[in-house]
Amino acid sequence: MKELTHFVNGQQVKGTSGRFADVYNPALGEVQARVPLASKAEMDAAIAAAAAAQPAWGATNPQKRGRVMMEFVRLIHRDMDKLAEVLSSEHGKTIPDAKGDVQRGLEVIEFCIGAPQMLKGDFTDSAGPGIDMYSMRQPLGVVAGITPFNFPAMIPLWKMGPALACGNAFILKPSERDPSVPLMLAELLQEAGLPDGLLQVVNGDKEAVDAILDNPLIQAIGFVGSTPIAEYIYGRGCSNGKRVQCFGGAKNHMIIMPDADMDQAADALVGAGYGAAGERCMAISVALPVGEETADRLIEKLVPRIEKLKVGPYTAGNDVDYGPLVTAEAKARVLGLIDSGVAQGAEIVVDGRNFALQGYENGYFVGPTLFDRVTRDMDIYKTEIFGPVLSTVRTKTYEEALGYAMDHEYGNGTAIFTRDGDTARDFANRVNVGMVGINVPIPVPLAYHTFGGWKKSGFGDLNQHGPDAFRFYTRTKTVTSRWPSGLKEGGEFHFKQMD
Ligand code: NAD
Repeated sequence: MKELTHFVNGQQVKGTSGRFADVYNPALGEVQARVPLASKAEMDAAIAAAAAAQPAWGATNPQKRGRVMMEFVRLIHRDMDKLAEVLSSEHGKTIPDAKGDVQRGLEVIEFCIGAPQMLKGDFTDSAGPGIDMYSMRQPLGVVAGITPFNFPAMIPLWKMGPALACGNAFILKPSERDPSVPLMLAELLQEAGLPDGLLQVVNGDKEAVDAILDNPLIQAIGFVGSTPIAEYIYGRGCSNGKRVQCFGGAKNHMIIMPDADMDQAADALVGAGYGAAGERCMAISVALPVGEETADRLIEKLVPRIEKLKVGPYTAGNDVDYGPLVTAEAKARVLGLIDSGVAQGAEIVVDGRNFALQGYENGYFVGPTLFDRVTRDMDIYKTEIFGPVLSTVRTKTYEEALGYAMDHEYGNGTAIFTRDGDTARDFANRVNVGMVGINVPIPVPLAYHTFGGWKKSGFGDLNQHGPDAFRFYTRTKTVTSRWPSGLKEGGEFHFKQMD
C-alpha cells in the first residue's frame, strides 16, 4: 500500500505519529494509499522550522518572490496532466473538471506574480513642515491554510500563492481525503526556487488543526470547509489572538424569471447542479422558478437533460459528466437526505438512488436526482446536501423568490436568469449573498477580484484571493518622518494640526 508523506523543509518526510487515514479511489471504492496524520509535536516542529526560514524570505524583494511564482506557473502547466490524473483518482471528479480545479488555482498564482505592484505602499510628501508619511505592507510571519477535499488543487493554491508572495512562510494542512496533489504542488514550488521551510505541507486531522490553532508562532489562518468547522476554527483562532478568515458551506439559489431563456436556464442548472457530483460550494442546489407556468416549463426541459447525463469513473473518457462522491460516508449521507425528501413530501421527479454501473458496483456513485415542490421546512431545503441533487421550490412572485435566497442561513453564491435588466439589477443590489450571477449560474470571480460568501458561508472581514488576499497576509505599518531641515527651534508637546 502506498504510504504518503508530509513535505517539510524541502523534502518528503514520513509521519511519526503512528496514525494514518485511508485515501480511497472513490470510483472503485478501494483504499489506494494511506496518509499520515501528524501529531501536535510534528506540527509544532514544522511551524518552528517555518518561523526560522521566514525572515530571509520576508526580506527578499517582492519581484524575486514574484519570479518564483512565474516559474511555478510554468511548472504547473508542464505537469497539468499528471496533476489532473492524481486529483481525479483521489477525488473522483472527471479529468476536465480536475484540470479546471488546477487552472482556477493557477490563475491566482499568475495574479501573485504582480506582488511588487500589490505590495506598493502609500506615500504623502510634505504632510507637514518637512514631514513625509508613508505606509508599507509587511508580512505577518508564519501563516496557515486548512483546506477541504472538494478542490484539492485550487484552494491550496489560493492560500499558498498570496501568503508566500507577501513574504510569509506557509503551513498547509490539506484535506486528508485527497492529499496527494498538495504534496505535488509543494514539490513544484521547491523546483520553482522556493527556499526550504517556507511551504510545509503537514497532513492530519483535528489534532494537527488544533496544533495550528494553539501555536503562538501562527499569525493568521485561512480556512475553507464546512460551516461547523469554520465556526470552530474562527472562534478558537480569534480567541488565541490570530487573524482568521473562514469560508463555510453553501446552499445556492437560482431564480428563473418567466422571461428567461428557458433552454439556457435548464442547461445552466444541469451544469451547476450536477457538475462535480454537486460537490462544489458554488453548486446551485435550489431552483426558484417564478410562476407555475415557468416551473412546469423548467421541469419539462430539465428532465430529458438530466436523464442524458453520463455518470462514471474519470477513466471512462471526457464525455463523462460527473463521477462518484468522495467517500462511502458522503454517499450514505446524500442517499439519506434524498430519502428524507421523499419522506417529508417532496415530489421526486428523477431518482438517482438506485444508480448502478457495471464494474464499479463498489464505487460511491449517486445518480442525478431532481425534486419538485420542495418546501422551506424540509431537510433537503435547509441542509447543504453536497451531492447531485437539485431541489425545485415553486414561487409566485420575484419578491417571494428573492425572500428564499435572503432568508437562507447560507450566502455563498446565487443567480438570476432573466432578460429584464431592471429585475437583474434589483436582485444584484438587494440580495444578501456574496457572489451573484446574472444569467451566469456559477459566478466564481476571477483571480483579480475576490471570492467570499456572506452569512454562515463566511467568517472574517476579508475575502479570498485578489487584492483582499494581499491585505489578509500583510499588516500595514505607517511611518511619519521629519528630517533636520524641517525642524523648528524647540520641542513640540501637543497634538496639533499640521500646517
Ligand atoms: P470539512 O469541514 O470536513 O473539512 C475541511 C478541513 O477541516 C479539512 O482539512 C479537515 O481535515 C478539517 N477538519 C475536519 N474536521 C475537523 C475538526 N473536527 N476539527 C478541526 N479540523 C477539522 O469540509 P470538507 O468536507 O472537506 O469540504 C466540504 C465543505 O467545504 C462543504 O461544506 C463546502 O461547501 C465547503 N467549501 C466551501 C468553500 C467556500 O469557499 N465557501 C469552498 C469549498 C468548499
